[in-house]
Order: sequence, then C-alpha cells, then structure tokens
Amino acid sequence: MEDLSQFLNKLSTAAMILEPIGSGQWAVKAWNQALDALRDGPGDALRGREPRNFIEVETKANAPLCQGKPVEPMTLLSIHTGLFETASQQQIRVKLKYDWLDEKTLLIWIEPFSEDMALTQAHADFVSTVSHEFRTPLTSIKGFADTLLRYGSNLDVEQQKRFVNIIKHQADRLTRLVENLLTVSKLGAQKAQFIFRPIPLKRTIDRIVQSVEGKLPEPREFKIQISDDLPEVWADPDKLEQVLLNLIDNAAKYSYPNSEVTISAAISAEDESKIKIDVSDQGVGIPAEHLPNIFNKFSRIDNPLTREVEGTGLGLYITKSLTNAMGGQIYVTSEDKKGSTFTIVLPVATPERQAAARLQGEEEFA
Ligand code: ADP
Repeated sequence: MEDLSQFLNKLSTAAMILEPIGSGQWAVKAWNQALDALRDGPGDALRGREPRNFIEVETKANAPLCQGKPVEPMTLLSIHTGLFETASQQQIRVKLKYDWLDEKTLLIWIEPFSEDMALTQAHADFVSTVSHEFRTPLTSIKGFADTLLRYGSNLDVEQQKRFVNIIKHQADRLTRLVENLLTVSKLGAQKAQFIFRPIPLKRTIDRIVQSVEGKLPEPREFKIQISDDLPEVWADPDKLEQVLLNLIDNAAKYSYPNSEVTISAAISAEDESKIKIDVSDQGVGIPAEHLPNIFNKFSRIDNPLTREVEGTGLGLYITKSLTNAMGGQIYVTSEDKKGSTFTIVLPVATPERQAAARLQGEEEFA
C-alpha cells in the first residue's frame, strides 16, 4: 500500500487505482494528490466507492466500469469522456484513460477535458490524414513514372497512354487537395473574397452534373428538378459552384452505381426571398450519431465506401463555411444505409439586393 501511494503521488496527472470487490464490481483502492487537487477535497471520501457513483461516462458504449457492469479488461482500453464530481458536487468534464497494472489492479487517469484538447487531437488527426492523402497519389505517380522511364520503350502506345493518364489523375487529386487546404486556411483567416451576382441555377447545376458524370467510373441516374421560371440566386459564382460541386460529388461518391441522385431547387415554402436546393442520394447514408459532426473540419465516417473513395473530410466544412458566408444555411437529413439529403438555402437575387450591391460598389469605387 505504501509503495502504491508513493507510485501514485509521483504522477502529476490525477489517477486512482481500482480493485475488484466481487460480483464483477470494482472500487477505489488508492489515489494520488493530483486527484485530491482535481476533486478539491480529500480522495479519502472515495475509498471503497464504485466509480459510477462519482463519474458519469458520456461515451456509454464500451464503458462497463462506470455503469457498474462486470469489467471486461479489453473493453476498457479505450478513452472515454465523462463528468467527474468534485467534493462540492460540481461536475467537471474529464477524459478517462485506463492502464492495467496487473489483472486485479486497474489504474484510471483522469484529465480535465478542454476544447483545446479536442482541437489538438483534431490537428494531430488532420496531419496524419493529410500526410496519407499526399503519400498515396505521390507513390502512384512515382511508381508509374519509374515504370515508364525504365520500360517505356517495351510498352505499346495504349499502355503508355494508360500510365500517363493515371499520373494525370493522381496529379489532379493532389491539386484538389492543395486547393481545399488553401481554401480552409483562407476561410480560417477570413481572407476569402466574395463577389455576388445573380446566378441562373439550372444552367449552373446542369454544367456541374455533366462534369461529375464525366468523371464517374460507373454511372448514376441524375435527375434535375428545377422549373425554368425559378428566379436567379444571389451568390458568388465560383463559391456557389464549389458548394454545389461538393454536394453533388459526395452524393455520387457515397452511393451505388445506377442509383438515383436528385437535385431540386425551388422557392422556399417558409420564406419567399430564399431558394432551397436539395441534393438527395440513395447511398450509404450517415448514422445519426455522426450527423452533428458532419460539417466539422476533417470529419470522415468510417464505412466501406469512405474507405474506398478519396477524400480528406474537408469538403463539407468548406461547403458550410462558404454557404454561411453567402448568407445561406445548410443542413442534412439522412438515414443510415438508405440515403442522405443535403439542403442549402440561399437568397433570391431580388432587384433590391442587386441595386444595393451596385450602390455599394459605386461607393467603393468613388
Ligand atoms: P470527403 O468526402 O473528402 O471525405 P466531406 O467533408 O465532403 O469529405 O465529407 C465528410 C464525410 O461525410 C465523408 O467522408 C462521408 O463519410 C460523409 N458524407 C458526405 N456526404 C455524404 C453523403 N451524401 N452520403 C453519405 N455520407 C456522406
């Protein structure tokens, strides 16, 4: 016991040790001074108590310890967030990590959880995703260029063309990645510039669908439902194109060959000064628990299709930021394994808006 306390007190992070107390339950055996400090009171009061009495785990799945169910060592190796109760019954958000000292001694680390930590983690994930995204096309470019240099004269013209096409495709992929990263950095620094114009949606969407269709390895059935008399939308043409391209490209990317992708646009039923654009697919869908994070930077959902298709998880973050910056909103409804609908709402290019913009332009010019 003496050794255990000494060992624990050398740790600067709050930690406690649990031991089994029978029928699959575990209780606090020892703790350190850092835990006293975090608790704002002596950990003595915790001796013999089960963690679920003073820690409410937020990530309920795989956290049997804190639900008082029998402990399964392997399921505890993950990290959870939870609410930790202090001596004065305040709740602080913490991150819990587990270490087995031996099969009957479980060490739990308890660290205050801050948004900064989440951001640091997101950045670490980002660097690893981006490095991977760079490495894959570079490896392919290098491989095919090497082959062409070494054996080019033995290959027939068709094979040579195929290899050069692969190199070009991978170079395009790198260009897209760099462009996305630059957009993200500009958006972060508020340096993106917007030039608003009235934009005819039907023509714009026809063009985007054609370009997405042309690049798909297998076809989708695109349906465009936009009436000819729909008023023009008020947006920056390049940025709107980027938004729609991302949504239509995703609808095709995360759905199956020959399934339907429908793009419709109409005056919003709730607000006549807005146009509502829906991009619907019959693809893999998005599980409900991922929906709140879907527009965050670098968020990608692990599913069989995401593993297959290229992406960095930047597209929807950019799409949302650009839509909001153009005075619009974006939202999503989705059913796992059935399909998703992304909706954007943007202002109609009313004569008043155009006149106001002209006036502002003249003032800036004067
Ligand atoms: P990327 O496609 O580059 O991974 P996005 O930001 O465009 O990045 O999308 C983030 C994640 O959201 C994707 O990895 C995918 O898992 C999910 N997603 C986006 N659009 C759809 C969709 N239409 N259907 C299902 N999942 C989607």
